[in-house]
Amino acid sequence: MIASTPSSHPLGSGKEFSRSASPIDLACARLKSAGLRITQPRVAILEALIRRNAPASIEQLHRDLASDACDLVTVYRCLAVFEELGLVRRCFFHNGAGLYEINLDDSHHYHIVCKSCGKVERIDAALTDPTERMLRERGYDQVTHLVEFFGVCPDCRKKATESSPAAVISAP
Ligand SMILES: [Zn+2]
Repeated sequence: MIASTPSSHPLGSGKEFSRSASPIDLACARLKSAGLRITQPRVAILEALIRRNAPASIEQLHRDLASDACDLVTVYRCLAVFEELGLVRRCFFHNGAGLYEINLDDSHHYHIVCKSCGKVERIDAALTDPTERMLRERGYDQVTHLVEFFGVCPDCRKKATESSPAAVISAP
């Protein structure tokens, strides 16, 4: 029998393995290493988050699950646990709703929300990294931030110009 210690676990030992591991394996390994049980609802919710790979509400995630998987409260509780672990990130959009997104690689990215149609696009930019680093250097721990961008998307702009061309002429 081979003794399993955190340091000898293949998921904890480098990038070689993590490249071939599936997202759900990585997520479960994070649960395990935090001493959390891998339960059926947790796996189902993680799978739903991975499938979406975009910000989703608790209700949307609950609808993604099999009807007998778990209730809404369980989804809520699981997401709170995942958020604490850094396995999901919560994003806030203009209606104030918190949406959850899978966060397996700790990639810093943001979103732009269209004020007209509500479409959400991902922006890959490390724009807050220097600020977080500076705060850590000042002695702050567990630093987090909330940054969202809002605008009118190219599709909505195009539709607006088609329906009222005068708006374009008067625009600065
Ligand atoms: Zn739009």
